[in-house]
Amino acid sequence: MIKQYGKLALVAFGVFALMATPVLARPKWALVIHGGAGVIERNQMSPEAEAAYRAAMDRAVRTGTAVLEQGGTAMDAVEAVILEFEDDPLFNAGRGAVFTAEGRNELDAAVMDGATLKAGSVAGVTRTRHPISLARAVMEKSRHVMMIGAGADAFAASVGLEQVDPAWFFTERRWAQLIKALTDQGLPVPPRPKGAPEPHAFIDIPDDRKFGTVGVVALDSAGNLAAGTSTGGTTAKRWGRVGDAPIIGAGTYASNQSCAVSATGTGEYFIRLTVAREICALVQYKGMTLQQAADEVIQTRLTALGGDGGIVALTPDGQMAWSFNTSGMYRARAAQGQASVISIYKDEP
Ligand code: ASP
Repeated sequence: MIKQYGKLALVAFGVFALMATPVLARPKWALVIHGGAGVIERNQMSPEAEAAYRAAMDRAVRTGTAVLEQGGTAMDAVEAVILEFEDDPLFNAGRGAVFTAEGRNELDAAVMDGATLKAGSVAGVTRTRHPISLARAVMEKSRHVMMIGAGADAFAASVGLEQVDPAWFFTERRWAQLIKALTDQGLPVPPRPKGAPEPHAFIDIPDDRKFGTVGVVALDSAGNLAAGTSTGGTTAKRWGRVGDAPIIGAGTYASNQSCAVSATGTGEYFIRLTVAREICALVQYKGMTLQQAADEVIQTRLTALGGDGGIVALTPDGQMAWSFNTSGMYRARAAQGQASVISIYKDEP
């Protein structure tokens, strides 16, 4: 009798453990954020600049955490974090975006919803204050996935998204970077944009080989993933160039079947490798862990092709990963029940 009860208890415990393990293993919500990768080295960063970036990443974690803890969706968290980055001149997104060779700010952004595989993206936007909200509006309020240029701005205005004078996006630091890049390349320097403030002093961050794009992947308490990326592209880009950020599967991807990814780096290489989708495919079809898949694509394939940059990624079971082949990447992660991590340099966790 006792033996039988013992057996029963064992079976009951086994069933309970089986049912409970995945639930216990998966955090209720999780969030991984990047603020761009590149040549980011301790000896080149002033203490002020480093403190400013760490504070911005900390704010981003708090914003995303607040949304997810209150039961908000992964997409809400992605948008909320990127909205703040787009107003922060430290990052190459929205205000603070890099300039084209013609002296304009042309913004790219994308979002993807892992539950439905719905996606929205925009490229070459010049008047919409928040390209990330426009990407979301394309996904939710239009029949299309991607819109570009003046048409995308017109759609933004039609759905009530704030329009600004293009000078809104101007920052002295990015303007100085443009002049340097054009001079180095022997290209003409365009006139200072109309409406830009009078030339003024700014905190320089030496070396312009930093991408500064922003991206977020999130997992919500309903078990859904979302990804979003926003950028001004690359300094002195020409001829209507579009990078990887708004290309679904290259710089941005999310599927509840595999993972969510947001990328930053030399977009041309990320497009050719369809980096974001490739990482998720390795997880989905080869059964790799997220970190293995991310490292395979970034450390091995991207590096072999000659591309620079990195990604942040997340799976529906709460695996969080980042991988980059540059000396640094502004990055942070947070998950329910875990201490958040904010890092910049390669030698940090
Ligand atoms: N990936 C972006 C692009 O190529 C640049 C960046 O990450 O800052 O447009």
